Amino acid sequence: MKNPFHVMLIPTLGCPARCRYCWSSEPGSPRMSIATVRDVVAWVSSLGKERVTFTFHGGEPLLAGADFYREALPLLAEGLAQANPEFAMQSNLWLLTPEIAEILAGYHVPIGTSIDGPARINDVQRGEGYFGKTMRGYRIAREHGLRVSFICTFTSQSFREKEEIVRFFRENGFTLKLHPALPSLRNDNPEPWTLAPDDYGELLVYLLDVSLENLGSFEIMNINDLCKCVFFRHGTVCTFVDCMGSTFAVGPDGSIYPCYRFVGMPEYVMGHVSDCPELADLAASPVGKAMQEFRNFVDRACADCPHIRYCRGGCPYNAMVPGHGTIGGVDPYCRAYHRIFDEISDRLNREMAEAPAMEMMCFGAPRPKQDKPGVMALMRFQAMKEGKRKR
Ligand code: SF4
Ligand code: SF4
Repeated sequence: MKNPFHVMLIPTLGCPARCRYCWSSEPGSPRMSIATVRDVVAWVSSLGKERVTFTFHGGEPLLAGADFYREALPLLAEGLAQANPEFAMQSNLWLLTPEIAEILAGYHVPIGTSIDGPARINDVQRGEGYFGKTMRGYRIAREHGLRVSFICTFTSQSFREKEEIVRFFRENGFTLKLHPALPSLRNDNPEPWTLAPDDYGELLVYLLDVSLENLGSFEIMNINDLCKCVFFRHGTVCTFVDCMGSTFAVGPDGSIYPCYRFVGMPEYVMGHVSDCPELADLAASPVGKAMQEFRNFVDRACADCPHIRYCRGGCPYNAMVPGHGTIGGVDPYCRAYHRIFDEISDRLNREMAEAPAMEMMCFGAPRPKQDKPGVMALMRFQAMKEGKRKR
């Protein structure tokens, strides 16, 4: 993760869309007040962090409206200047207006938006008319210089159309981040949309190949992250690190949760921003203890797995779903993670064995002879991009 301390702000759980597989919106949800934003500033300030990322998430965060962001962003940016805050947003963009886009652009807020492929596939699972509304918002975002990436949710149904979905993102020049449709603690019957672990594993291996075949012209963020995990031997996204203690979510009423996926469920509240709790207080709450229990469980259950250092048992929320809130196993997507980590490790080991010694020490050294780019070429490309970004 870019910044080690991450606070997700959930201005509301309401959402104007009705995606068929989404269990995280709540009609009639309250909106976060500016008083709560001030409490967030006081709370994060009391933690003494040197860096913090805020992600506006939901529900649909744009429901909070222009006035909310006009006040909230300077409060957070100036009130927490010592913590060098960075911002991001996850939104379907339906409600993006030129006015809000201008406010977000002033704080360089990158946006992750959700499209599941071309309109035909997207609107079957996200609702009639969704695609057009999001693309309209996308154009406004681009006109205001906002950076937008696309999160594509693969369901048990759209998985069967993966080739067409990938072609859509590639031909439009959109960077892709994929998300599997997941079961939820809020719903006992996630079928028929949930992506099965074996299908998810197969999808990841397919996308690894697509990513390498199109190196330099089409990016799949998850594949970059998974390769980095294996190459650097530590997790680079929340699923593959111990997220407890470094990620929190604040709900519309100021309640603190371990992550946005728990927001709105009273039994997962860890504390309240108006009380300025210390991290130790949050860790001592029942849900804080459950998250810690997951970390200990993984140390035992995954002890013999070669990928434990950069997988860390996956997502604790996913692990809690089958037991309705109790930990009875690691993340049920273990089989998918194992498969893609095996694949990347095997390819990397082969490439390293075939590469000249210098290649292993220096990304700038001549490439080994290969028919097509491999994992090391992807890592070299990422390092080059990162270097350019820093210059
Ligand atoms: S609970 Fe899961 S989704 Fe939430 S921060 Fe942790 S790993 Fe990420
Ligand atoms: S791949 Fe599975 S067994 Fe290995 S660390 Fe991840 S969750 Fe544990």
